[in-house]
Amino acid sequence: MIDRINAYFHFHNNHLRPSAYVKELQDRKLRKMIEHAYGTSGFYRDLMERAGVRPGEISTVSDLRRMPTVTKDDIQVNFNSIISRKYDPEKCIVRTTSGSSGKMLRVIWDDFNFLSRLLLYYRAFAMIGYTPFKKLVYFLPVVEDAGFTFGLFRQKGLTLDRPFEEVREFLLKYRPHILSIYPSYAADLAAFLSDDDVKKIGLQAISLNSEMILSNDRSLIEEKYRCPAYEEYSCVEAGVIAGMCRCKGMHVFSDNVVVEILDSAGNPAGPGERGEVVLTALNSFAMPLIRYRIGDISSLSGETCPCGSGMPLLGRIEGRKDDFFLLEGDRRVPAWMIYEAIERPLHGYGDESLVLSDFYLVQRGRDRADFYFVKGPNFSRDYVNDMMVRSRDLFGPGFTLKVTELDDIDRVKAVKRKYIHSEIN
Ligand SMILES: [Zn+2]
Repeated sequence: MIDRINAYFHFHNNHLRPSAYVKELQDRKLRKMIEHAYGTSGFYRDLMERAGVRPGEISTVSDLRRMPTVTKDDIQVNFNSIISRKYDPEKCIVRTTSGSSGKMLRVIWDDFNFLSRLLLYYRAFAMIGYTPFKKLVYFLPVVEDAGFTFGLFRQKGLTLDRPFEEVREFLLKYRPHILSIYPSYAADLAAFLSDDDVKKIGLQAISLNSEMILSNDRSLIEEKYRCPAYEEYSCVEAGVIAGMCRCKGMHVFSDNVVVEILDSAGNPAGPGERGEVVLTALNSFAMPLIRYRIGDISSLSGETCPCGSGMPLLGRIEGRKDDFFLLEGDRRVPAWMIYEAIERPLHGYGDESLVLSDFYLVQRGRDRADFYFVKGPNFSRDYVNDMMVRSRDLFGPGFTLKVTELDDIDRVKAVKRKYIHSEIN
């Protein structure tokens, strides 16, 4: 319990601190993480020795560029040697990253990491008005029990496969203050709810996550739900990367991650210049992640936010936009439904299992698509059959889904950063 209280105060209100404080805290956490990784992770020790970098040479964020970057491939291949010797993976929480974020990775969270993730989610919601005793509803493919909420944070998770009628009934009864939701799901649900329903539910804010969103889509969601919509940017690997304040500034959670933006030559991009997002996780001790190329594109702004937060501002995030499928008769199948068909059955194999290590779904015509996959170490043919049945239900009987096993998905990809792609819309 003491750990929880200490952790709570470690993260509490850091988003309200001046930038000098935030920078100092981030550098301190970075030094601790580099020492820890060098001392206890075989992979990082080798990496640093090969690069000729001693841990003491990295004392601030600007020194980080002396370290090599790490790709998803590096993590897949070196999983065991990345894990810190100080942690027993059996006693950690194991998760698998979703296919929407690229190659599928197994990720390990120690207790402190799990706790900090929750606290930082609460903080992201607090920044848009979530206070103790207010009610939050979140939508996910699989709902996870937060484990604890300090008894204050009332919340309810709903899975995406519930019929909209049931979701509507629930929202009318529970009357949440805040929804945490995928943009495409929010848009589809909005079309089902009447104006009267929306008024009765009485939302105060919406937090949009996971998919890239254009600002006019966000305005439409705000109009339909009659409340402001904010964005949150997070990943399984590192937790919350950035969250919006009420001024709609996307603040990097500097006490959780270092965000670097690199240009195509691997050099730091200038303020406002777009480039590849590279993350260093500051609270992930069982599985250190240093200069990890997550595969998204964004920018760091040099500007300050009217809210006064000292946490730096991130630009628009590109790279997670998935397509909807357009079928005969102009029927539109949104990305979240496609994820349901592909990813939900994966959860049935447990978090320790890596059934697939990569996939790519591409629509070739109104009546056909190709599903490419790379087997994971726990591959199961039953998964492929299950996914085929679900896809048939989703796309209808006239639709052909061709399944192909590959060693390397990148060879067939038309659009590098997309995992669900449509060639026809
Ligand atoms: Zn702000």
